Amino acid sequence: MDFSSLLNELDILHDCALCPRDCHADRFTAKRGYCNAGTGFSISSICIHRGEEPIISGSRGICNIFFTHCNLQCMYCQNHQISDNLRDHGPDEMQLEEVIRQVTGILDTGINIVGFVSPSHMVPQMKAIIRVIGSLGYKPTWVYNTNGYDKTDTLRGLEGIIDVYLPDLKYMDSGQADRLSDAADYPVVAGAALKEMLRQKGTALRVNEEGYAESGILIRHLVLPGTIRNSIEVLRFIATELSPLLHIGLMSQYYPANRAFSDPELSRSLARKEYARAVKAMEAFGINRGYIQGLASYNHYRPDFNKNHPFEPD
Ligand code: SF4
Repeated sequence: MDFSSLLNELDILHDCALCPRDCHADRFTAKRGYCNAGTGFSISSICIHRGEEPIISGSRGICNIFFTHCNLQCMYCQNHQISDNLRDHGPDEMQLEEVIRQVTGILDTGINIVGFVSPSHMVPQMKAIIRVIGSLGYKPTWVYNTNGYDKTDTLRGLEGIIDVYLPDLKYMDSGQADRLSDAADYPVVAGAALKEMLRQKGTALRVNEEGYAESGILIRHLVLPGTIRNSIEVLRFIATELSPLLHIGLMSQYYPANRAFSDPELSRSLARKEYARAVKAMEAFGINRGYIQGLASYNHYRPDFNKNHPFEPD
């Protein structure tokens, strides 16, 4: 197959303003932008993942494509092995043919849902993957699994392409967004991004007869230790500025990782009463389409991207 016309999509990376960092870097050169990503298919793993919410993972799992690098650098990132922009990710660039071979290999097992994890800085590469797989006759549900730090213009270009938006909404506190993720404008940017997703998809989350999400939005919020006020403001924003009818995954899976050990609050796990306050706030704001994680769930979410399958024991 000749992929050359598809790869024209990558031309916009000569002057990259894909995400809110607005670097205007030429990613075809060694002078990269904030995410330090080039123009290749920088992927750490393509695997079946069963640890997402039930309507995303279904009974068989989702085919997840994990991109390396990230446009946020969260000090507590649980995927820091692949998201740290200053780290040498080794030979992480895959040929498009190999990406297609691995994804279609998983689709051929009967799984019909594909998630792009941390795609905000890789949108042209993601679109190329979608177009090639579509041209081969596959019609999976496409899931955009993002940290929420997305530009609305870039999201507009995904209308009619992405089926399910799976965004984080991490902060409504600009100071915390700055301190923990180096993005003081996160509340404004992510708020606008989620409004754009809502414009495209509405509040309904359509589920097929097998129990998999087919179209819609599921917002995730990870409750962090010592930042419960931020969590309450996030939930308030969802209920009042978006819609209390949206589906929410309230996550308790936090454990200290990456640079979190240097922070007095983040170096501990989440207290039961902190999570209970977040659950109570969710109820008080009238959000009742939610997934509440068990507090012990942090034991099940410790990926190791040095392994072939980051989420399964050797
Ligand atoms: S995708 Fe990367 S290079 Fe492009 S604007 Fe965002 S951080 Fe900068």
